Amino acid sequence: MVALRELVAELDALLQVGDFADYCPNGLQVEGRGRVHRILSGVTACEALVETAVTRGADLLLVHHGYFWRGEDPRVCGMKRRRLQRLLAADISLVAYHLPLDAHPELGNNAQLAQRLGLAAEGRFGTGSGPELGWYGRLPRAMTVKELTDWIRARLQRTPLHLEGGPEPIQRLGWCTGAAQSYLEAAADLGLDAFVTGEASEQTTHVARERGIHCFVAGHHATERYGVQALGAWAAHRFGLEHEFIEVPNPI
Ligand SMILES: [Zn+2]
Repeated sequence: MVALRELVAELDALLQVGDFADYCPNGLQVEGRGRVHRILSGVTACEALVETAVTRGADLLLVHHGYFWRGEDPRVCGMKRRRLQRLLAADISLVAYHLPLDAHPELGNNAQLAQRLGLAAEGRFGTGSGPELGWYGRLPRAMTVKELTDWIRARLQRTPLHLEGGPEPIQRLGWCTGAAQSYLEAAADLGLDAFVTGEASEQTTHVARERGIHCFVAGHHATERYGVQALGAWAAHRFGLEHEFIEVPNPI
């Protein structure tokens, strides 16, 4: 058991939430009971995940994608009402970390994706505005497009979409989890062979072709499953809590 306030303060400090100008509040988003023993984690605080937290008797739901995004309709109606009503009625806290969880050097989504894909990190990069969330480094060996596709599929249980770009083989690459297709040009500027991210847009195809860089689109959800699991495991270990990650399948 740990006090909710102590747990959140520790997570906020670990992830240095104060250093980020984000599109949502980081940390405690919905306050539930004052003491925490059981944490449930997931990528997005969708209704199915909230429902599972209620059924499993969780004290706290830990996610990467929480609520209250900048620019959204602030009224508590419809979908948002149902989610909040379930959480509040069950006295479950919602704790969300967005950009701070992408960026953390060990527990973050990019660090965890690197571990999973066997990538040796060499540095970070950004698009010129905002935090440098992209990472670059090396595969353990040079690979063809087919080999890297199989490599990603075996490790993420997701067949990536490949957008044809530069020559083969591929060894130096960049990566940024989630919807980081806007990083592709910056990855090309670094002279990387390929870039791995979660989502693509129509123009991503043309950037890959014209800048000569392969792009592997492995799913926003699939690339961002690992940070929140690592963070939940860290908190469970630190305070002697129960933690369970729940996979709510999402093809995007
Ligand atoms: Zn995301």
